[in-house]
Amino acid sequence: MAEKTNLTKNYNILPGIKMGVLSIEYLKKLVEVAGKYKVPFLKITSAQRLAIGGHAAEDAEQIWRELGQQSGPKKPVGIHYIQACPGSRWCKYGRQDSLGLGEKIEEALMSLELPAKTKVGISGCPMNCCESFIRDVGIFGKKNGWTLIFGGNGGGLPRIGNIIAEDLSDEEVISLAERCLRFYREGARKKERTARFMERTQLEQFKSAVVDR
Ligand code: SF4
Repeated sequence: MAEKTNLTKNYNILPGIKMGVLSIEYLKKLVEVAGKYKVPFLKITSAQRLAIGGHAAEDAEQIWRELGQQSGPKKPVGIHYIQACPGSRWCKYGRQDSLGLGEKIEEALMSLELPAKTKVGISGCPMNCCESFIRDVGIFGKKNGWTLIFGGNGGGLPRIGNIIAEDLSDEEVISLAERCLRFYREGARKKERTARFMERTQLEQFKSAVVDR
């Protein structure tokens, strides 16, 4: 029979890990901190972040601090996370640099305020390991550049996003993604996800408003 414990079932998500990329130094620190605070549960989430759980609630802030994560004021609702696959840097099938584009998108768009949480998935080739068709902003690489998808969702009411444009450079796909997000922000109801917004928006009207503007 399994031994009963008094451990809390709460866990923290640590947003400091970007696109699931970990360094040896960070892993060493994580082992040290997890041991110090007797953390029984560590998990890479489906969003490529790190969940830390089962520790005493009063240790949470100190664990964050020792791992170099700020626990400052909450940022406004907007891009919740950016996922990216290994792409052309590390995957033999990669056609474009998904990790590099993720870094650029984080810098350009992470602070944009939006009506609801928004997820970004970037895949380096059409195999779409980062499930780009079911992300609010989905991007995947082909030989001639990036394809941008908008309005996907993988939740309880899934939706395949719409292809907005193809063969885009890094700068073009970032700029177009921003125009899509701003158009969505102007027209969406409070807390309305992009998938629901796109269901009640005419695709051609959306495209003519955001492409080549
Ligand atoms: S989407 Fe393509 S590049 Fe990215 S991990 Fe999958 S196969 Fe590799």
